[in-house]
Amino acid sequence: LSTVASADWFSDSQAIMGTTVSVELWAEDEQQGQRAMAAVFTEMRRIDKAMNPWDEHSELAAINRQAAIAPVLISEELQQLISKALYYSRLSEGAFDISFASVSQYYRFRSAKKPSAQQRQQLQGAINYHNLVLDEKNRSLFFKDARISIDLGGIAKGHAVDRGIALLQSHGIHSAIVSAGGDSRVLGDKHGRPWVMGIQHPRKKDQHALRIPLANTAISTSGDYERFFMEGEIRHHHIINPQTAESARAVQSVTVLADKAVDSDALSTTVFVLGVKKGLALINQLPGIDAIIIDDQGLLHYSADLLLSP
Ligand code: ADP
Ligand code: MG
Ligand code: MG
Repeated sequence: LSTVASADWFSDSQAIMGTTVSVELWAEDEQQGQRAMAAVFTEMRRIDKAMNPWDEHSELAAINRQAAIAPVLISEELQQLISKALYYSRLSEGAFDISFASVSQYYRFRSAKKPSAQQRQQLQGAINYHNLVLDEKNRSLFFKDARISIDLGGIAKGHAVDRGIALLQSHGIHSAIVSAGGDSRVLGDKHGRPWVMGIQHPRKKDQHALRIPLANTAISTSGDYERFFMEGEIRHHHIINPQTAESARAVQSVTVLADKAVDSDALSTTVFVLGVKKGLALINQLPGIDAIIIDDQGLLHYSADLLLSP
């Protein structure tokens, strides 16, 4: 008896980049499906290896050790991603700032630790993207402030998802979803029907606040419920408002829709810091980008294009 390779859905998920990476795709046969799937996971591991700031062997960790001493040559991939991060810093007047890590590296969410008063004092003003000097011509990065550390956690998973989708396309796949934690992108639709994504309820575990149909789009959700600890009524979580150097507290969750996951990822973090009013004002000025915000009272807010749609 021989197995007949036939068109089918293939799915797999693996722990990478400190989260769950999952892929679901439609392939014409088993071999195409397995090869495409393997290519995505290999790429995700490669990106994690380069960009994980906690892995001393990563390119990012090397940059953090050396860039305040002298300009460091960086890969083309990191140059493009850091350039994009700086673009969102300028666009948001610093709400998105990869130098947030200068302070956040002293948080330990699992053991409920935060920077000491003395550390805070010493780090005042250290979060400041203006002190990141990216030389696009020489492809180097320099930190003008020795206290700076950078972390691409607000944008790298989106980039990885985009790379995953590009690889699937190069393997001839036309219908798929790739997710890395809260960052996802769907390719095509689900055989004539949309992909349906649930947006996590920020305060009710395993419940959706909303479900939305999607095709050919990226979607990212940033929430204050993923990595956090409580200190009395105060919620300390992983999204840092660069202005206060504390967790951003204006909203509970932000979902952004864009063509590419690198943009939905950076913008979900950005809008989380900006809050409802400034966040929607920013999104409404960007064509092709939408947002759904759940504010600090649990109320839903939509960007202009979503309000107009039926
Ligand atoms: P997730 O990590 O679940 O994808 P987000 O996309 O919202 O969630 O990104 C949150 C991550 O962004 C944090 O874990 C941290 O690495 C990074 N981050 C936190 N605050 C900022 C900020 N102000 N600017 C840029 N990146 C940030
Ligand atoms: Mg994000
Ligand atoms: Mg993200």
